Amino acid sequence: MDIGFDKISPTPQYPNGINAHQLSVYDWSSQAGVVLQFKTAIKKDLRDAQLGRCCYCRRLLFDDIATHIEHFVEKAQYPRFTFEIQNLALSCGTCNTQKNGSNKSLAALLKKRAERQGNVLMPRCPTLAQELAPNSPLPSSPQSYRWVHPHLDKYSDNIQINKGWVFVGKTLKGSRTIRGVNLNALAQIERRALFERLATRGGKLSMFVGVMAELERHRAKEVAAVVAKLLWRRRNSPPQ
Ligand SMILES: [Zn+2]
Repeated sequence: MDIGFDKISPTPQYPNGINAHQLSVYDWSSQAGVVLQFKTAIKKDLRDAQLGRCCYCRRLLFDDIATHIEHFVEKAQYPRFTFEIQNLALSCGTCNTQKNGSNKSLAALLKKRAERQGNVLMPRCPTLAQELAPNSPLPSSPQSYRWVHPHLDKYSDNIQINKGWVFVGKTLKGSRTIRGVNLNALAQIERRALFERLATRGGKLSMFVGVMAELERHRAKEVAAVVAKLLWRRRNSPPQ
């Protein structure tokens, strides 16, 4: 399937008149002019570099509200990388929610384990191969990361997307990313969306045109099953 972009390359530059040093005194949620200006500019540049696709699932991004600026290395754990452009990428709302969910489960698991063993809780960032020493810079080698890095790793070397939005890990990194973002949950979401798209097509010719367009991303068997379900439904509940 067409993944759009393999990696973000080159990494976009700081927008004109803004530098990392200026931003370093602010939180991500700050309403300061320079922060808002940075976010707007970087969202546009990343969208261009990512050809309008999500950094994890490679589906097309929708409007700005449904598009998230993702911190690949958690900003809560490493606030010093909050405004590092190489740590930022755009994701869709679904992947953002899934990633946050899996981070929370990991944190809860570690907390429980630490309590059981009477240890001090050591936070763990799932995307990093190992935790970083205080004040060390953002790692720039792919080996420093456990997940497929949007700027450093080629997606197609690590993950294959089959028709019907089935994600297959080609490497350990690829498999970890698929699990961490729960990418295979998308198949069901996309099947439902396929059903809804085809349901809007009234006549048989219109449905045929719709089916042809869907065959690029969905397996023929899947599309046929959806069409059969729609036709059955129409026969049993004729329009009022
Ligand atoms: Zn996504």
